[in-house]
Amino acid sequence: MVPLTEPDIRASFVNCTKGEAKRLAVPRDLDEAPWADLDFFGWRDPAADERAYLVAESGGGLVGVALRAAPQTGRVRRSMCSLCLTTHTGDGVSLMTARKAGREGRQGNSVGAYLCTDLACSLYLRGKKDAGRRLDETITLPEKIERTTASLAAFLDRVRG
Ligand SMILES: [Zn+2]
Repeated sequence: MVPLTEPDIRASFVNCTKGEAKRLAVPRDLDEAPWADLDFFGWRDPAADERAYLVAESGGGLVGVALRAAPQTGRVRRSMCSLCLTTHTGDGVSLMTARKAGREGRQGNSVGAYLCTDLACSLYLRGKKDAGRRLDETITLPEKIERTTASLAAFLDRVRG
């Protein structure tokens, strides 16, 4: 994806208030992010365990979503990210919920998805980050990327309502 700036990121959020978007923790080392290998930009707030964010290109613009990660159970089990289909053991996958945009969100509605806890789906897909065990698939990398971005687009549509 194209490299993002902090103002781009803050202006992209669809499911939080302008004040929240202004205050939320944006990574400082944006220059060092591996933009060429990213299908979306996701990060965790290092100061608040439950807060996670992702920003993706969508229909020529940017869509940012604020997420809440469910508390980790600490149980050792295997689970799969619904975007990149990477299987992780332990806490590598989290249930993340996003408040819906607009009126539905103000009424308390949210949508959830199981996502890689570190939101590094793009890097797992490309083998730039190791999750230990890959799904044994015959489809090509571009096909996997397409599948992931389609799943992400569906998730973003659900958030936007
Ligand atoms: Zn993932």
